[in-house]
Amino acid sequence: MAFLEIDHLVKRFGSTEVLKGIDISVDEGAFLVLVGPSGCGKSTLLSMIAGLDTITSGEVRIGGRRVNELHPSKRDIAMVFQSYALYPNMTVAENIAFGLEMRGVAKSEREAAVARVSEMLQIGHLLKRKPSQLSGGQRQRVAMGRALVRDPQVFLFDEPLSNLDAKLRVDMRTEIKRLHERMGTTIVYVTHDQIEAMTLATQIAVLRDGVLQQFGTPAEIYNNPVNVFVADFMGSPS
Ligand code: ADP
Ligand code: MG
Repeated sequence: MAFLEIDHLVKRFGSTEVLKGIDISVDEGAFLVLVGPSGCGKSTLLSMIAGLDTITSGEVRIGGRRVNELHPSKRDIAMVFQSYALYPNMTVAENIAFGLEMRGVAKSEREAAVARVSEMLQIGHLLKRKPSQLSGGQRQRVAMGRALVRDPQVFLFDEPLSNLDAKLRVDMRTEIKRLHERMGTTIVYVTHDQIEAMTLATQIAVLRDGVLQQFGTPAEIYNNPVNVFVADFMGSPS
């Protein structure tokens, strides 16, 4: 049985069908990238996986359990968005530990968790700073730290790098890939950038207008695109 299963997933907003019957399944530890042009339904699909919005029909299961049947506090999922807000009056360490504190995790355990993720993200030297004293890339690392510290079963990213400049995007890509290799967590990562998809994914799902065009490994999709749309979008050789 696959770890993350999306079956015949349909999502309508009013009379507009945004996801038109999506089927995807991946094993635990996969790095699934959802790629496609702006407006094709990537963020909507991600929020269905997170259980943040109702499903019109079909289902999403994680570890065999339907996400919409799990209480939000029981979902072992962390999400990193394109626009992330750090708490401006807290230090980096306090920002990272905040979620743990809210859940009643003891101080010594919080400190150990902050030390662990800040070492992974190479922000150990920044722990006493305030967000205003950080660069864009450093802030994004802190936002990731805040999600990572919870040690989630599934990690969801929605275009986390699109506000960063080109050089930083490449650095962060490497960083995210390294984190995945090290942690082995299942990741679902949304981007409209095909190079990012090719670099990061173990599996890619190409979407267009709410329809899954192709699902496969980066090599399969690049070398054997099923149609002209996928070939054009992924920049496959013609
Ligand atoms: P992407 O992330 O691929 O850019 P989205 O999932 O954000 O695309 O949006 C897919 C489509 O669904 C778009 O046409 C968008 O306008 C529409 N949409 C998204 N959220 C809502 C909503 N809450 N109400 C109505 N339409 C929505
Ligand atoms: Mg989006």
